[in-house]
Amino acid sequence: MTLDTTVAFIGLGNMGSPMAERLVTAGAKVVGFDLSADARDRLTAAGGTTAELASDAGSQADVVILMLPNSDIVESVLTGAEGMLASVRPGTVIVDMSSSEPLRTRELAAKVEAAGARFVDAPVSGGVKGAVNGALTIMVGGEQADLDRVADVLAVLGTPAHVGPIGAGHALKSINNLMSAAHLWVTSEAMLTGIAFGLDPSTMLDAINTSSGRSGSTQVKWPNFIVPETYNSGFGLSLMLKDMKIATGLAERLGIPHSVSDVVVDAWSRASSDLGPTADHTEVAKWLKGQSS
Ligand code: NAD
Repeated sequence: MTLDTTVAFIGLGNMGSPMAERLVTAGAKVVGFDLSADARDRLTAAGGTTAELASDAGSQADVVILMLPNSDIVESVLTGAEGMLASVRPGTVIVDMSSSEPLRTRELAAKVEAAGARFVDAPVSGGVKGAVNGALTIMVGGEQADLDRVADVLAVLGTPAHVGPIGAGHALKSINNLMSAAHLWVTSEAMLTGIAFGLDPSTMLDAINTSSGRSGSTQVKWPNFIVPETYNSGFGLSLMLKDMKIATGLAERLGIPHSVSDVVVDAWSRASSDLGPTADHTEVAKWLKGQSS
């Protein structure tokens, strides 16, 4: 099926770039925008077009997809100076696929509606590989009627699941990543212990992956990015830390205990300040190894 729709795609980074390219391949007219000229050039080379401003892209679109680093940037793209909401067409569905803050998403939805458009949150899991292959898990928050209007577009990117009202997707995504980050940290401490004892990492992973200690960290991250020492998952450490803090902030707001989660956030924060803003999240294993006595 060819997509007969115009999609504005804002944020053409590690995830947004392959996602936008899949939409081009599926037949959509994709008008992209990113602050980075290289990112814009990638989309043009793949058969899309680009705009001078996010708002120029948004004003032409039936569907707007945002794949941006955080809620501050999502808000500035929509409501800041030259923000998209001033010129968006009535009825346009704006889909925030970034991993944003659920409570801010709810507030933003009211502003989007006041501008005559619709808002859906649809963050993803599955990494760059999932983005390239159209195999993302898409956690959708919002009204069913709005999801129905963007279902064809989302189906090109992965498998959407409607998980609740507006903000529900962003809440679930942050919770998922808090768990994923905790797994990766403990997995890395445990694997380094086994290696120091003399065990072979691949032998360990083969056994663990059919045992109760397995997780995405043992099935994907350690074998693909840490054992080969490439550390190139395409998911930044700072983005993971942002997601963890969203989840613990939500726990705090809701009165749920989060003491162990706080310890994990603190550990990731120390690695982040040593490794810097461009580090891949899988580099925490290398950092931990460097802490060995
Ligand atoms: P990225 O840093 O690679 O890409 C973000 C892009 O946004 C960059 O190209 C940047 O230039 C652009 N940008 C920043 N400010 C902008 C603005 N004001 N206007 C237009 N463009 C702007 O990040 P990513 O890895 O692609 O992640 C994007 C989102 O998806 C984040 O919220 C992240 O948490 C989430 N996410 C990432 C992964 C992953 O594996 N990388 C997986 C799931 C979810």
